[in-house]
Amino acid sequence: MTKPVSLPVKERFHLPEGVIYLDGNSLGPLPRGVEDAVSKMITDEWAAHLIKGWNVDDWMAQPIRVGNRLAAMLGAPDNAIALGDTLSIKVYQALASSVEMRPDRRVILSDSGNFPSDLYMAEGLIRLLGNRHELRIVAPEEVEAAMTDEVAVAMITQVDYRTGRMHDMDRITRAAHAAGAVMLWDLAHSAGAVPVDLTVCECEFAVGCTYKYLNGGPGAPAFIYVRPDLIETTKPALSGWLGHDAPFAFEPSYRPAVGIERMRVGTPPVIALTALERALDVWEGIEMADLRAASLHLSEVFIAGVEARCPDLSLVSPRDGRERGSQVSFAFEHGYATMQALIARDVIGDFRAPDIMRFGFTPLYLDEADVRRAVDILAEVLDRRLWDRPEYRQTNRVT
Ligand SMILES: *Cc1c(COP(=O)(O)O)cnc(C)c1O
Repeated sequence: MTKPVSLPVKERFHLPEGVIYLDGNSLGPLPRGVEDAVSKMITDEWAAHLIKGWNVDDWMAQPIRVGNRLAAMLGAPDNAIALGDTLSIKVYQALASSVEMRPDRRVILSDSGNFPSDLYMAEGLIRLLGNRHELRIVAPEEVEAAMTDEVAVAMITQVDYRTGRMHDMDRITRAAHAAGAVMLWDLAHSAGAVPVDLTVCECEFAVGCTYKYLNGGPGAPAFIYVRPDLIETTKPALSGWLGHDAPFAFEPSYRPAVGIERMRVGTPPVIALTALERALDVWEGIEMADLRAASLHLSEVFIAGVEARCPDLSLVSPRDGRERGSQVSFAFEHGYATMQALIARDVIGDFRAPDIMRFGFTPLYLDEADVRRAVDILAEVLDRRLWDRPEYRQTNRVT
């Protein structure tokens, strides 16, 4: 056991001088040590060992080894999480296996707060399965009531990427199970942000990405969890060779690997996994309960400050912290230009159409003084109508 440390742990990150980073919910900053770990892997392993690295450096075991580190953070046992691919792919895998577990049911249930890629992947799967399934999208507050015996799988993202609204995982999972449905959670905005206990939750599947609150870097590999009692009967839709029981036997036909290895698809992204493995060191000694308390405090300071000083902005996140993840969103007609003006003043958040300004609170590297300064700068941008300058109105490709 490592000793609990107090937050923040800013010294564990590279953050440009003067920047207040409120976008760790979209791309976490670079943890210190990642650059050395990656560079060492490239020179000492790839350059020196060439293809031998798969054995001598254990690259082949990395997706499950790093998965076990995540498992410890998410209340899962060892060998229940595999890493690789992107979240969209992992959503597809979990969804396809879920649908196969309930062959007599035709509804994939989701909510209108889900991230579009999850919904798009469901549409693609439904088309491939001959359009015999229905993607049923209800309002977030209607998810529980919509759990009928038609539902094969409920595919829900716990924290809404736009508003930060947070579902009660345990309660919704119980409702899904009472209706006989499979429960699939997307933890993209939960992992590393709020306490998660997959064992207590008892959901069948969970997926998430590692480049948001887990700071794995742009394009870092995604994760998939399968409840241990189901792994041996889960049928992988993406039956790639590295999910085969004996990849190097090169058999002509697919046989799933024993255990969570079957959710692997192809060659693991070794460089990216090396970065992630090192990035997870920043969690040493951090208690998730402390992180959550600090996140709620920072969010409340921000909400109170903005509401007192920026009357044109309206809160679109739940006011009750228990119903909110680790981000706060405000709507404003000139939200895009305002965010550009903020970024130009080193307060970095982001924007989601049509009018939502998002601010992520990551207590690993933010303290109350940062949040108060961000409020000051936001109030100044609004008071002086700095958003009304042409240079802030040009829309970039990534918002
Ligand atoms: C960020 C996010 C994604 C992104 O998927 P990628 O395949 O990693 O690009 C998907 N779903 C949700 C819910 C997200 O928040």
